[in-house]
Amino acid sequence: MLIVHTKEDARRWAQDQLAAGRTSGLVPTMGALHEGHYSLVRRSRERCDVTVATIFVNPTQFAPHEDLSRYPRTVEEDLQGLRACGADAVFVPAADSMYLPGHSTYVDPPEVAAPLEGICRPGHFRGVATVVLKLMHILPTTHAFFGQKDFQQAAVIRTMVRELDLAVEIDVAPIVRDPDGLAMSSRNRYLSAEERSRALALSRALDEASRIVAGGEKDGTAIEAAMRRVLTEAAVDEIEYATVADPVTLAGLRRIAGPVVALIAARVGSTRLIDNRVLADH
Ligand code: AMP
Repeated sequence: MLIVHTKEDARRWAQDQLAAGRTSGLVPTMGALHEGHYSLVRRSRERCDVTVATIFVNPTQFAPHEDLSRYPRTVEEDLQGLRACGADAVFVPAADSMYLPGHSTYVDPPEVAAPLEGICRPGHFRGVATVVLKLMHILPTTHAFFGQKDFQQAAVIRTMVRELDLAVEIDVAPIVRDPDGLAMSSRNRYLSAEERSRALALSRALDEASRIVAGGEKDGTAIEAAMRRVLTEAAVDEIEYATVADPVTLAGLRRIAGPVVALIAARVGSTRLIDNRVLADH
C-alpha cells in the first residue's frame, strides 16, 4: 500500500491510474477508522480497479464551539487496517498542508445543507464541501464512496457534484452497526459503558419509527413523538433533533406520502451521536 503525504504525490498517483485506464475509488475519512470506514474501502475495491483512502481531520468542518483537538487520532492503526482491507494507496496530508496560511476560498454548500446538521453545526457543511472538493481535485478518481451514516453529508456531496459538474460517480454505502445496533462511529470510543447502553436508544427509536410506519402511520408529528419517547425513556442527555424528512431535500414532513428518512442527533454524556434510517421507499 502506497502512503503519500503531499498533494503532488497524491495527484500523480491518481493521474497515473486515469492514464492507465483504471477506474479508481476515493474514500475520504477523518481517521480513527472502524468497520464502517473499511466497508467503504471494500465497496470501492468491488467496484473499482484501485482504491485510495484519505486520512485528514478537517479543521474547517468543526464549528467554533466544537473541540477539534479532542477528535481521536490513531494513524498507525488506521494504516494497518487499510492495508489489511486492501487499499492501494492512502493520502495522509500534514495538518497544515491542506489549507495554506490565509486560506479564504470556501464552497457555499447547497440548500440541502441548511436544515438539521446545518442548524446544529453552523459552518459544518461549508467545511465538508470545501475539503471534499479539494480532495476530489487532488485525487481525481472516477468514483467516491461515502456512508449513509452521514445521510445529510451524502446529500450535500451528491448535490455539489451534480451542480458543479464534477466528473466523479458518488456511491453511498449502508450504515455498519455493532451487533447491539449502535451505528459505528469514531466518537463511540468516548462513551462509558453506561453511556453506551443509553446510546442504543438512537437505533431503538429508529426501529420504533420503522415499526409504526410499517403499521400505517402517516403523521410525521406522531412518528417524531414516538422517537422522542424512546430517547427520553432511555435518558439521553439532549435530543438535538428526531425527525422525519424528505430523503432528497431533507425538508421536514408533516405527512408521509412516499420516501421518508428518519434522522436523529442526540447527546449522550458529552458525545454527540447521529443515526438515521430510510423508512419507506416506494
Ligand atoms: P468520518 O471519518 O467520520 O468523516 O467518516 C468517513 C466516511 O465514513 C463518511 O462517508 C462516513 O459516512 C462513513 N462512515 C462513518 N461511519 C460509518 C458507518 N457506521 N457505516 C458506514 N459508513 C460510515
